[in-house]
Amino acid sequence: MDKKNLKNWIPDDQEPLRSILIFGPPGSGKGTLGKFLSSAGNHYHLSSGDIFRGLSPESPAGRIFHQYASKGQLVPDEVTIEIWHHYVQGLIATNAYFPHEQFLLLDGVPRTLPQADLIDPYIEVMQIISLEMPNIEGLIDRLKRRAMIERRMDDFDEKILRTRMQVYQDETVKLLNHYQKDLISKFNADQPPLDVLRDVLIKLSYLLTHSKLES
Ligand code: ADP
Repeated sequence: MDKKNLKNWIPDDQEPLRSILIFGPPGSGKGTLGKFLSSAGNHYHLSSGDIFRGLSPESPAGRIFHQYASKGQLVPDEVTIEIWHHYVQGLIATNAYFPHEQFLLLDGVPRTLPQADLIDPYIEVMQIISLEMPNIEGLIDRLKRRAMIERRMDDFDEKILRTRMQVYQDETVKLLNHYQKDLISKFNADQPPLDVLRDVLIKLSYLLTHSKLES
């Protein structure tokens, strides 16, 4: 079967995917919050870091990821969104994620302004959760602890960690200006995960419990 025919089986002209973006520096608890909201709220949590780490290191995309992540740098924007889009299409085609019923909880993507432009046609941003954590040293400590538990090599080396914090400051902070102000909710992430979850639920529980589209 040639590639042109395949397109008919996996259509990519679907409605924009209703998404909640989770922003925050490395170690601010994006993944923990995403997992809570997906398991208790039946949303689909999608972490770009998890997608990348799941790539075979021998595949071309996996090789690009390792080349950048090992230095604490971001994977180039177009490659990132292409891999992301491909992955989401797979989730829909295999009935893992149901766009009419679930919100997509995007953790770690978009991360730069060009990524936001590239991803815009595919998503409808319902809300942005910004996890605020100004205490960089506290974050570095958290990440080092996580490295021991999850054996994440990019969290072991303090120099790489500091590069990732800097990349976040330089690239991702600017992203908030790309979106409408009334979509953004800021939360104090310098508290235990359950307290962050509580704050998010107080503010967003209505939205989170009304994700099903009427047919
Ligand atoms: P953290 O949020 O703790 O920095 P992630 O697990 O989200 O970690 O990402 C790990 C690495 O994966 C990043 O350092 C980067 O190399 C790559 N990565 C993840 N998301 C993106 C993205 N949206 N754009 C470019 N690179 C990314």
